[in-house]
Amino acid sequence: MNLKIAILAGDGIGPEVTHEAVNILQAVAEAGGHDFTFTEALLGGVAITAKGTPLPQETIDIALDSDAVLLGAVGDNKFNALSPDKRPESGLLQIRQILGGFANLRPSVAYPALSENSPLRPEVTKGVDILFVRELLGGLYFGQPRSWNKDASAPGGGEAINTMRYTRDEVVRVARIAFELAGKRRKKLTSVDKANVLECSQLWRATVDSLKSDYPDITVEHQLVDSMAMHLMNVPRNFDVVLTENLFGDILSDESGIITGSLGMLPSATIGGKVNLYEPVHGSAPDIAGTGKANPLGAILTAAMVLRHSANLEQEALAIEAAVQQVLTAGHRTADIARGNISATVTTQQMGKLVHSALAESIDRSQSLHAV
Ligand code: NAD
Repeated sequence: MNLKIAILAGDGIGPEVTHEAVNILQAVAEAGGHDFTFTEALLGGVAITAKGTPLPQETIDIALDSDAVLLGAVGDNKFNALSPDKRPESGLLQIRQILGGFANLRPSVAYPALSENSPLRPEVTKGVDILFVRELLGGLYFGQPRSWNKDASAPGGGEAINTMRYTRDEVVRVARIAFELAGKRRKKLTSVDKANVLECSQLWRATVDSLKSDYPDITVEHQLVDSMAMHLMNVPRNFDVVLTENLFGDILSDESGIITGSLGMLPSATIGGKVNLYEPVHGSAPDIAGTGKANPLGAILTAAMVLRHSANLEQEALAIEAAVQQVLTAGHRTADIARGNISATVTTQQMGKLVHSALAESIDRSQSLHAV
């Protein structure tokens, strides 16, 4: 198959981890006879330095002309004095808006080999594999009116307003994505709301319920967001696909990050817009940029999501995820995930190569199986 991928590696550790992710995608393309083309474009601090703006028009054109956008991370302390709209991070916010994805997917997986990395007990995290589907373009973050009248002595002053607002159509489109993804997984959908207090949540719950008959094989449950925050830490294994509105998803998906145990391990995808956007959850980590300490596994797992959600290459995505598991089980660790009796660590590049070799071995094995 043909796949045009825009590579926006960005700043700090972005280019280091993205390089390893691209190597993995190239290996998949070569093994499967696929034609993946990679077009690099500037975003963030590197774009400010080269072009005077965090999101040059050329980057927008390349992204919109692609089948998928793979992003590293943006952010560079040397631009901290600029106003927010001129800083590297504003390029990221703008490209997200231009690509228009409304469903943010965040897997939260407990890797047995990393059970010591989570503050939760291994018997609690064992077998956890959750996919958060967070609505990304509505709710409190975008609702109007919004304001902050800072002059407390003026009439109506000292007041701040944010508005939570959803339409049925906005809920339907993200809920359908969650139902469909649940259908490809363990067929359970947990919808999170605060329907005992908020009208928006009552609309959310009624809309999810109205779609249930279209997906008869999916079990649907509703959870109030406050109890969900507890259940996630007590019984995370009970959850498969978790559907949330914007603010609740922001909080719960970060909370669930502790199940995996390291920011460097977490992938994400934003789908449903003009072009899907894929990015590891972590930032540009200026404290370790250029030291070879960055964990590339979040970026590599993000590459697996590109194959799953933009290329329908599920087996290949699973093979990448299995290669990551295999490397961790063999005891290889970057510095951020080294714990207990593992003292020797590998660099970003070495970790990338280890996953590449594990993937190549599994591809060889499956090709020789096919040849039998
Ligand atoms: P960060 O995610 O960059 O780093 C937080 C901590 O986690 C640091 O100690 C870092 O060394 C560590 N870390 C992060 N990713 C790692 C990895 N792959 N391997 C090993 N360790 C890793 O968050 P921050 O320090 O708050 O922000 C740094 C910069 O990144 C800021 O400019 C911020 O605005 C930006 N940022 C960008 C994104 C993005 O591009 N999506 C997300 C968050 C923050």
